[in-house]
Amino acid sequence: MKQIVPVQKNETLTVTIEDLTHDGSGVAKVKGYALFIPQALPGEKAEVKVVKTKKGYGFARLMNLVDESPSRVEPPCPIFHQCGGCQIQHMDYGAQLHMKQKQVKEVMARIGKLPDVPVHPVVGMNEPWRYRNKSQVPVAFQRGELVAGFYAKRSHHIVDMDECIIQHKENDLVVQTIKRLAKELRIPAYNEEKHNGVLRHIVARYGKTTDQVMVVLVTRGKKLPQKDELIAGIREAIPTVVSIVQNINNERTNVIFGKQTDVLWGETYLYDEINGIRFAISARSFYQVNPDQTNRLYQKALDYAELTGSETVIDAYCGIGTISLFLAQKAKHVYGVEIVPEAITDAKRNAKLNHIDNATFAVGEAEKVIPWWHAQGVTADVIVVDPPRKGCDEALLNTMLKMKPERIVYVSCNPATLARDLRILEDGGYRTKVVTPVDMFPQTNHVECVAVLTLI
Ligand code: SAH
Repeated sequence: MKQIVPVQKNETLTVTIEDLTHDGSGVAKVKGYALFIPQALPGEKAEVKVVKTKKGYGFARLMNLVDESPSRVEPPCPIFHQCGGCQIQHMDYGAQLHMKQKQVKEVMARIGKLPDVPVHPVVGMNEPWRYRNKSQVPVAFQRGELVAGFYAKRSHHIVDMDECIIQHKENDLVVQTIKRLAKELRIPAYNEEKHNGVLRHIVARYGKTTDQVMVVLVTRGKKLPQKDELIAGIREAIPTVVSIVQNINNERTNVIFGKQTDVLWGETYLYDEINGIRFAISARSFYQVNPDQTNRLYQKALDYAELTGSETVIDAYCGIGTISLFLAQKAKHVYGVEIVPEAITDAKRNAKLNHIDNATFAVGEAEKVIPWWHAQGVTADVIVVDPPRKGCDEALLNTMLKMKPERIVYVSCNPATLARDLRILEDGGYRTKVVTPVDMFPQTNHVECVAVLTLI
């Protein structure tokens, strides 16, 4: 049966918001037809203007609020409406946490067919601002001026920015300083269309426990005009800088980093500590962006692993070995595997740095290396996985089902692929005991989870 679209483009109507999508848009129903309205909150009555209609759903713009939700707050960031970085600054923090828990529950039921799995309240932050330890901003020349900031929603237009209030202040200082110096020293911004110019991205990293700053300048080629003046300027403006590096990315691509990284001044690494373990982090290696919450997340993963000291543990997708080294303190032996070679170099270095000698690290795809270990006779009592957004490779899930560890601890930055993979593991003989969401990314629609499964 053909569904009749009951609204027309440019029509203004008054609706009541019933729900929220996973990306924080309000949902209203008009004769059963769903309208998505960015920045509208459940319970609100609002005048909206239809901007786009499709067969099964449409989009509308919030024009005027008739009844406001008690969860609505004034977004503190002056560029919230232009910038695409945060999506839910207009919700108070309690409502954000509530929304994320509800979202995880829904996804568990819908995708994982796990309507009864316990989903704990989201572990939130006391102060959900100024938490990020890494800032990566594109640079461009717009309307006669060098700008650096975030992309506007669904576009390649840069919203110039002086500060970002979810970043640590040190990262703002890096961006402000490089912008000022690039203008003073006439260092050209990269031009995406013509693929010319020099400076593509400014990346700032901050070690919260060590108060160390790393500056990464991503450039199109090796050439960096006024290099010495630039280095001197950065050191003068940022007394806590320990490392200034240049990364060369000569590709026409959205990917930020290229393959080659050269140290311009200072150290190759930035150091940070989580719960007394020290980590050396190189420019391109993955490191969780919210240090306070990372500690809570890893503690949960460690609790769920229930280690007594006699277990062999595998940490798949181990990055620079953060979770592996957390686990190694309580396990007999830990095997970590990760695809990025530099990260494994960092992981080995980090094990030495902390005098941990019961951890072995290997470079490669988890879905290939773990079956190989299995074939060599390696068994595991506990397997921890922490994959990227696309979730675990099916070959890895199948290997885990063959290896039959007592427990599987699943750390995930995407509830949808987590739910999909939990279903596969459940069908293979595991039970999901609990899912705990941890708010690693306040003010945004992202949610991290840690789940534990046991063999039945
Ligand atoms: N557990 C780490 C890293 C998690 S991020 C931490 O908490 O810091 C996910 C990691 O998986 C990244 O370091 C990425 O490089 C790595 N990765 C992506 N695909 C992979 C694959 N197929 N096999 C192994 N590692 C992979």
